[in-house]
Amino acid sequence: IDFEHCGFPEALNHNLKTAGYEVPTPVQMQMLPVGLLGRDILASADTGSGKTAAFLLPVIVRALCESSCPSALILTPTRELAVQIERQAKELMRGLPCMRTVLLVGGLPMPPQLYRLRQRVKVIIATPGRLLDIIKQSSVDLRGIKIVVVDEADTMLKMGFQQQVLDVLESVPSDCQTLLVSATIPASIEQLSSQLLHDPVRIST
Ligand code: AMP
Repeated sequence: IDFEHCGFPEALNHNLKTAGYEVPTPVQMQMLPVGLLGRDILASADTGSGKTAAFLLPVIVRALCESSCPSALILTPTRELAVQIERQAKELMRGLPCMRTVLLVGGLPMPPQLYRLRQRVKVIIATPGRLLDIIKQSSVDLRGIKIVVVDEADTMLKMGFQQQVLDVLESVPSDCQTLLVSATIPASIEQLSSQLLHDPVRIST
Protein backbone atom coordinates (compact mmCIF):
# COMPACT_ATOMS: atom_id res chain seq x y z
CA ILE A 1 0.00 0.00 0.00
CA ASP A 2 0.78 3.63 -0.41
CA PHE A 3 -0.15 6.61 1.78
CA GLU A 4 -2.09 8.13 -1.15
CA HIS A 5 -4.31 5.04 -1.34
CA CYS A 6 -5.38 5.18 2.29
CA GLY A 7 -8.09 7.74 1.64
CA PHE A 8 -6.58 10.24 4.08
CA PRO A 9 -7.82 13.83 4.13
CA GLU A 10 -5.75 16.21 1.97
CA ALA A 11 -4.20 17.95 5.00
CA LEU A 12 -2.96 14.62 6.35
CA ASN A 13 -1.39 13.65 3.02
CA HIS A 14 0.26 17.06 2.99
CA ASN A 15 1.60 16.58 6.54
CA LEU A 16 3.02 13.17 5.65
CA LYS A 17 4.90 14.71 2.72
CA THR A 18 6.13 17.62 4.83
CA ALA A 19 7.38 15.17 7.47
CA GLY A 20 9.29 13.34 4.74
CA TYR A 21 7.15 10.21 4.90
CA GLU A 22 7.11 9.17 1.24
CA VAL A 23 6.79 5.41 1.47
CA PRO A 24 5.18 3.45 4.33
CA THR A 25 7.62 1.38 6.40
CA PRO A 26 6.97 -2.41 6.58
CA VAL A 27 5.09 -2.15 9.88
CA GLN A 28 2.99 0.70 8.49
CA MET A 29 2.21 -1.33 5.36
CA GLN A 30 0.85 -4.08 7.56
CA MET A 31 -0.85 -2.06 10.28
CA LEU A 32 -2.53 0.66 8.23
CA PRO A 33 -5.04 -1.39 6.23
CA VAL A 34 -6.27 -3.41 9.22
CA GLY A 35 -5.99 -0.51 11.65
CA LEU A 36 -8.06 1.73 9.36
CA LEU A 37 -10.66 -1.03 9.04
CA GLY A 38 -11.17 -0.95 12.80
CA ARG A 39 -9.64 -4.30 13.71
CA ASP A 40 -7.73 -4.99 16.91
CA ILE A 41 -4.01 -5.53 16.37
CA LEU A 42 -1.20 -7.30 18.20
CA ALA A 43 1.99 -5.97 16.62
CA SER A 44 5.60 -6.72 17.35
CA ALA A 45 7.50 -3.63 16.30
CA ASP A 46 10.66 -2.01 17.56
CA THR A 47 11.63 1.61 17.98
CA GLY A 48 12.80 2.92 14.61
CA SER A 49 10.34 0.79 12.65
CA GLY A 50 7.88 3.64 12.15
CA LYS A 51 5.48 2.07 14.68
CA THR A 52 4.43 5.43 16.11
CA ALA A 53 2.99 6.68 12.82
CA ALA A 54 1.58 3.17 12.23
CA PHE A 55 -0.69 3.60 15.26
CA LEU A 56 -1.11 7.38 15.05
CA LEU A 57 -2.61 7.32 11.56
CA PRO A 58 -5.54 5.02 12.52
CA VAL A 59 -5.92 7.07 15.73
CA ILE A 60 -6.10 10.34 13.79
CA VAL A 61 -8.53 9.03 11.17
CA ARG A 62 -10.75 7.58 13.89
CA ALA A 63 -10.65 10.71 16.06
CA LEU A 64 -11.48 12.86 13.02
CA CYS A 65 -14.73 11.07 12.35
CA GLU A 66 -15.86 10.71 15.97
CA SER A 67 -17.60 13.54 17.80
CA SER A 68 -16.78 12.30 21.32
CA CYS A 69 -14.14 14.17 23.31
CA PRO A 70 -11.82 12.47 24.06
CA SER A 71 -12.19 9.71 21.48
CA ALA A 72 -8.68 8.24 21.42
CA LEU A 73 -6.29 7.09 24.16
CA ILE A 74 -2.60 6.25 23.79
CA LEU A 75 -0.85 4.61 26.76
CA THR A 76 2.93 4.55 26.87
CA PRO A 77 5.32 3.66 29.73
CA THR A 78 7.32 6.88 30.13
CA ARG A 79 6.92 10.63 29.99
CA GLU A 80 9.72 10.89 27.41
CA LEU A 81 7.94 8.48 25.07
CA ALA A 82 4.67 10.35 25.59
CA VAL A 83 6.33 13.63 24.64
CA GLN A 84 7.76 12.06 21.46
CA ILE A 85 4.39 10.60 20.51
CA GLU A 86 2.67 13.95 21.04
CA ARG A 87 5.29 15.71 18.93
CA GLN A 88 4.72 13.29 16.04
CA ALA A 89 0.94 13.50 16.51
CA LYS A 90 0.97 17.30 16.30
CA GLU A 91 3.10 17.14 13.16
CA LEU A 92 0.61 14.79 11.50
CA MET A 93 -2.51 16.63 12.76
CA ARG A 94 -1.53 20.10 11.56
CA GLY A 95 -4.44 21.74 9.74
CA LEU A 96 -6.94 19.06 10.75
CA PRO A 97 -10.04 20.37 12.57
CA CYS A 98 -10.62 19.88 16.31
CA MET A 99 -7.66 17.60 16.93
CA ARG A 100 -6.39 18.78 20.29
CA THR A 101 -4.12 16.50 22.31
CA VAL A 102 -3.27 16.34 26.01
CA LEU A 103 -0.34 14.76 27.83
CA LEU A 104 -1.33 13.12 31.12
CA VAL A 105 2.02 11.98 32.48
CA GLY A 106 3.72 11.66 35.82
CA GLY A 107 6.56 13.92 36.95
CA LEU A 108 4.74 17.11 35.93
CA PRO A 109 2.15 19.09 37.87
CA MET A 110 -1.38 17.80 37.46
CA PRO A 111 -3.46 21.06 37.41
CA PRO A 112 -2.28 22.27 33.96
CA GLN A 113 -2.97 18.79 32.57
CA LEU A 114 -6.49 18.85 34.02
CA TYR A 115 -7.04 22.36 32.65
CA ARG A 116 -5.99 21.26 29.17
CA LEU A 117 -8.15 18.13 29.48
CA ARG A 118 -11.23 20.34 29.81
CA GLN A 119 -10.52 22.11 26.47
CA ARG A 120 -12.30 19.50 24.35
CA VAL A 121 -9.26 17.36 23.60
CA LYS A 122 -9.66 14.53 21.12
CA VAL A 123 -6.55 12.47 21.88
CA ILE A 124 -5.09 11.59 25.29
CA ILE A 125 -1.46 10.53 25.47
CA ALA A 126 -0.80 9.16 28.93
CA THR A 127 1.31 7.11 31.26
CA PRO A 128 -0.78 4.59 33.21
CA GLY A 129 -0.10 5.81 36.78
CA ARG A 130 -1.01 9.47 36.16
CA LEU A 131 -4.07 8.59 34.13
CA LEU A 132 -5.26 6.21 36.85
CA ASP A 133 -4.88 8.98 39.46
CA ILE A 134 -6.99 11.28 37.26
CA ILE A 135 -9.61 8.55 36.73
CA LYS A 136 -9.79 7.95 40.51
CA GLN A 137 -10.54 11.60 41.16
CA SER A 138 -13.24 11.51 38.47
CA SER A 139 -11.57 14.24 36.40
CA VAL A 140 -11.80 12.40 33.08
CA ASP A 141 -14.61 10.64 31.25
CA LEU A 142 -13.32 7.86 29.02
CA ARG A 143 -16.74 6.55 27.94
CA GLY A 144 -16.39 8.18 24.51
CA ILE A 145 -13.08 6.47 23.72
CA LYS A 146 -13.25 4.55 20.41
CA ILE A 147 -9.61 3.56 19.92
CA VAL A 148 -6.89 2.65 22.42
CA VAL A 149 -3.19 2.10 21.84
CA VAL A 150 -0.96 0.31 24.33
CA ASP A 151 2.54 1.22 23.18
CA GLU A 152 5.72 -0.59 24.31
CA ALA A 153 3.60 -3.14 26.13
CA ASP A 154 6.61 -5.29 27.06
CA THR A 155 8.24 -2.27 28.73
CA MET A 156 4.96 -1.60 30.58
CA LEU A 157 5.10 -5.11 32.05
CA LYS A 158 8.82 -4.84 32.90
CA MET A 159 8.10 -1.58 34.76
CA GLY A 160 5.30 -3.27 36.72
CA PHE A 161 2.44 -1.37 35.06
CA GLN A 162 0.29 -4.36 34.08
CA GLN A 163 -2.39 -3.86 36.74
CA GLN A 164 -2.48 -0.11 36.12
CA VAL A 165 -3.01 -0.68 32.38
CA LEU A 166 -5.80 -3.15 33.11
CA ASP A 167 -7.38 -0.74 35.62
CA VAL A 168 -7.26 2.16 33.12
CA LEU A 169 -8.83 0.03 30.41
CA GLU A 170 -11.69 -0.88 32.78
CA SER A 171 -12.84 2.72 32.27
CA VAL A 172 -12.98 2.60 28.46
CA PRO A 173 -15.84 0.94 26.57
CA SER A 174 -15.15 -2.76 26.11
CA ASP A 175 -16.01 -2.60 22.40
CA CYS A 176 -13.39 -0.02 21.46
CA GLN A 177 -10.67 -0.80 18.94
CA THR A 178 -7.40 -1.74 20.66
CA LEU A 179 -3.88 -1.77 19.25
CA LEU A 180 -1.19 -3.50 21.32
CA VAL A 181 2.36 -2.73 20.23
CA SER A 182 5.37 -4.45 21.76
CA ALA A 183 9.02 -4.95 20.78
CA THR A 184 8.75 -8.62 21.76
CA ILE A 185 5.79 -10.95 22.29
CA PRO A 186 6.62 -13.18 25.28
CA ALA A 187 3.96 -15.30 27.00
CA SER A 188 3.07 -12.40 29.31
CA ILE A 189 2.17 -10.21 26.31
CA GLU A 190 0.16 -13.06 24.76
CA GLN A 191 -1.77 -13.21 28.00
CA LEU A 192 -2.33 -9.45 28.13
CA SER A 193 -3.40 -9.59 24.51
CA SER A 194 -5.98 -12.27 25.27
CA GLN A 195 -7.35 -10.06 28.08
CA LEU A 196 -7.54 -6.87 26.00
CA LEU A 197 -7.98 -7.73 22.33
CA HIS A 198 -10.91 -9.11 20.36
CA ASP A 199 -9.90 -11.38 17.48
CA PRO A 200 -6.67 -9.45 16.82
CA VAL A 201 -4.74 -9.36 13.59
CA ARG A 202 -1.15 -10.34 14.42
CA ILE A 203 1.63 -8.36 12.81
CA SER A 204 5.36 -8.92 12.98
CA THR A 205 8.17 -7.26 11.10
P1 AMP B 1 9.35 5.09 15.41
O1 AMP B 1 9.70 3.68 15.08
O2 AMP B 1 7.91 5.33 15.47
O3 AMP B 1 10.08 5.56 16.65
O4 AMP B 1 9.85 6.02 14.19
C1 AMP B 1 11.20 6.14 13.84
C2 AMP B 1 11.44 7.38 12.96
O5 AMP B 1 11.01 7.14 11.62
C3 AMP B 1 10.72 8.62 13.41
O6 AMP B 1 11.65 9.68 13.47
C4 AMP B 1 9.70 8.89 12.34
O7 AMP B 1 9.51 10.28 12.16
C5 AMP B 1 10.29 8.24 11.12
N1 AMP B 1 9.29 7.69 10.17
C6 AMP B 1 8.14 7.02 10.48
N2 AMP B 1 7.50 6.61 9.37
C7 AMP B 1 8.24 7.02 8.32
C8 AMP B 1 8.11 6.89 6.89
N3 AMP B 1 7.07 6.25 6.35
N4 AMP B 1 9.07 7.43 6.12
C9 AMP B 1 10.13 8.08 6.68
N5 AMP B 1 10.31 8.24 8.00
C10 AMP B 1 9.39 7.70 8.83
